[in-house]
Amino acid sequence: MADGAKGADEAVSFTGGCQCGAVRYRINANRLTVYACHCRECQKQAASAFGLSVPVFLTGLEVEGETASWRRPTDSGSHTNCHFCKTCGSRLFHAGENRPGLVTIKGGSLDNAVELDPVAHIWIRSKQSWVVLPEGVPQWETQPQTQSEWMELLS
Ligand SMILES: [Zn+2]
Ligand SMILES: [Zn+2]
Repeated sequence: MADGAKGADEAVSFTGGCQCGAVRYRINANRLTVYACHCRECQKQAASAFGLSVPVFLTGLEVEGETASWRRPTDSGSHTNCHFCKTCGSRLFHAGENRPGLVTIKGGSLDNAVELDPVAHIWIRSKQSWVVLPEGVPQWETQPQTQSEWMELLS
């Protein structure tokens, strides 16, 4: 079982890190929620079909090792700071300036990434055609625009 599959109210730790191991992190949270993003930015960033985003509170994130960051504008008119390992370049987490206190972990960097099961798929407008989405999982043409829509997506 995943570290996170203990009692529902029990805060547990989730761990992950970059490809070379120079950066390791620990997330203290009750559970993790992941969504898949099929936007062009995530496809470029992952150099793959889609991105996996795991929102966590910054206060629950402990990072060991040196990261560098790159800042880019976002669709919403804000900016996000993209943090990655200085040695191997693995992208580890994003910190959006419009959502202070919250970061999104790049899901594939978690040690137990194989157990992630996205609660929603966003930006399916630019989804690669061969990616078949599971039935019953919410899909967004683009992405939630309001805080309450985000809460709905992540609930
Ligand atoms: Zn690394
Ligand atoms: Zn995206």
